[in-house]
Amino acid sequence: MLNQRWTRLSLQIVELYQELDRDVAAFAVQSGMRCPSGCGACCRSPHVETTVAEMLPLALLLFENGEVESMLERLEHGPVTCTQYEAVPGHPDQGRCLNYAQRPVLCRLFGFMGSRDKAGQSRYGACKVLQTIAADRIEAVDADVKTGAMDIPLLIPAHERIAEIGGPLGTDTLPINQALLRAIEIVGLSQQLEDLGAEESREAL
Ligand code: SF4
Ligand code: SF4
Repeated sequence: MLNQRWTRLSLQIVELYQELDRDVAAFAVQSGMRCPSGCGACCRSPHVETTVAEMLPLALLLFENGEVESMLERLEHGPVTCTQYEAVPGHPDQGRCLNYAQRPVLCRLFGFMGSRDKAGQSRYGACKVLQTIAADRIEAVDADVKTGAMDIPLLIPAHERIAEIGGPLGTDTLPINQALLRAIEIVGLSQQLEDLGAEESREAL
């Protein structure tokens, strides 16, 4: 029952992820912005933060696939940066996300998102890599975003949606590895309570 609750919540989060992916894809087509193949520079940042709610889809998948122990090991002994990142040996900025489909909001929007300035106008915030390789286009894209000629996904409203869906688990952000650990603990505890409840029900028969 308890994990049904997390599964329902996770499904709502995944629906939001799909919506954000569509928005990012539309912005990428309109703006012509594209990550260079194999780039993983943003995944090396020690500042990737997410809410616990956003990590529930991955936590549930790990339980489903029996991969919790290996992930806990990775979280305990892995780097302080995201443990989901696997770099190409000798090329730290090149790599892949081991759980790309379950990555949280910031990872979906990074490089392709906007924010509102004090006047309430949207502004494009490209990552450093895109600022370098697409320097000639950034200004024009930003101008179109500013005038509203181009739609851009916005980070704060996406986080507000997460807070609506996840309640307390969707409000505070933590470094991504800590958020994943917390999500695993929550799902694991729920699983234990479910098992205990099932056992007690059997004994009562
Ligand atoms: S968002 Fe920027 S740093 Fe991240 S993969 Fe794309 S180009 Fe690379
Ligand atoms: S979850 Fe994936 S996309 Fe996000 S920082 Fe980690 S490796 Fe990168």
